[in-house]
Amino acid sequence: MSTSIPTSNRDLAANVRRGSLDPATVLAATERALERADSGPDPVSAFLSVRTGTDDRNGPPTGPLAGVPIAVKDNIATIDFPTTCGSRILEGYRSPFDATAVRRLREAGAVILGKTNLDEFGMGSSTEHSAYGPTRNPLDRSRVPGGSSGGSAAAVAAGIVRGALGSETGGSVRQPSAFCGVVGIKPTYGRVSRYGLVAYASSLDQIGVIGRSVDDAAILLQVIAGHDALDSTSADRPVPDYCAPPSSLEGVVIGVPQEYFPDSLHPGVSSVCRSALHALEGLGAEVREVSLPTTPYAVPTYYILAPAEASSNLARYDGVRYGVRYPGVADVKELYDRTRALFGPEVKRRIMLGTYVLSAGYYDAYYGRAQRVRRLISHDFTNVFASGVDALFTPTTPTPAFRLGERTDDPYEMYLSDVFTVTANLAGVPALSLPIGDVDGLPVGGQLMGPPWSEGSLLRIATALESSLASSGSSHVMPRHASDQND
Ligand code: GLN
Repeated sequence: MSTSIPTSNRDLAANVRRGSLDPATVLAATERALERADSGPDPVSAFLSVRTGTDDRNGPPTGPLAGVPIAVKDNIATIDFPTTCGSRILEGYRSPFDATAVRRLREAGAVILGKTNLDEFGMGSSTEHSAYGPTRNPLDRSRVPGGSSGGSAAAVAAGIVRGALGSETGGSVRQPSAFCGVVGIKPTYGRVSRYGLVAYASSLDQIGVIGRSVDDAAILLQVIAGHDALDSTSADRPVPDYCAPPSSLEGVVIGVPQEYFPDSLHPGVSSVCRSALHALEGLGAEVREVSLPTTPYAVPTYYILAPAEASSNLARYDGVRYGVRYPGVADVKELYDRTRALFGPEVKRRIMLGTYVLSAGYYDAYYGRAQRVRRLISHDFTNVFASGVDALFTPTTPTPAFRLGERTDDPYEMYLSDVFTVTANLAGVPALSLPIGDVDGLPVGGQLMGPPWSEGSLLRIATALESSLASSGSSHVMPRHASDQND
């Protein structure tokens, strides 16, 4: 009987290891949830490819994720599914290797269910910039799931999988997690190997994890974190234990940066954040107002640096090395023209912006200056943490999930969904989003950011906050779809 599938991934895996839960039962529930999500006139469409039948590559049912179904964003290389990056240019492309994070998931016993939809190459905040059509928010199908890891967040929120990998360049794990009412973690730059993550902006990119609860996300991070000789930017530091039983927050100092609570902040989001701050105080934390003065420069800085790196990284799609290969073209120019015409409008916009800010006459005025401002943004974080603040609390996004089509005609409006998330990528610090309440039935995410390598303490604070909010009855805090797997 599938009614015995435990709510937490830790318990699910323990039951599979013990032999009291058949992984096939879990998969059958997964398949039913997928069918439900994709039925009706407005399907969620979280996946670009899904496994069929049994798969010998699934890990032995022995590890910390034994039998746990996991989804992987389609810009992370997998040997047994295509890796399209949501782009026509990589239609049907198959990687000859698994990303290190995927390999570690399999070794931990996880079942990779399939690959999830994303904004093309990770460029977007709504998953509407996918060449394969949008994903819908499972909590309100007229709304976006956020992006660019919208497929991963939607797959978890719809109760299809028990966790997912996403990627972050400027908020692509945290923002969709906030919109879909799930937990998303962006680790410190270098904590998780980028080997097999298709590059967007390499100095900002990081693989992140999504789960229905803080602990579900924490186990995923535990499994994928750690040094990898295949990624020279991965850090050779021990991985602490990320399992954090709820505890008091006595002595913990939470900084509240005023720049993240502008007058223009959605009033519902602001009031849910205030309640979460009260809950943190109730747990014994000291809440202190702080300032990160360079915050207003973060979005412009990000939208210079990320396109600059993207314009260089995406030069590799030349029609020769990866993906689509046009037959019968007259010369190299025609090959380039026809191949690169397959990029969607947002990717073309970023390549043009990036090429412009790197060009000889403008390099100093834009790219060089943005690099200097990035340093200042990073100093803001160093200074605030040096002043005795253990973690910062902010809203993850300025508004709850917006409607499909609402921002597609205005790139600038779309970019502003990232105002509270791009800073952590620019500074390289860890950050997570967890559901802290809702506004008009839509989930609101609260963000915690900490000094480099503070994932363990961020998870401890998040676990305490999660259980405090759950016991005070806030909706959108408990894993609401837990029951989906059981009916
Ligand atoms: N929305 C941001 C962008 O479009 C962030 C994307 C990401 O984190 N991959 O660049």
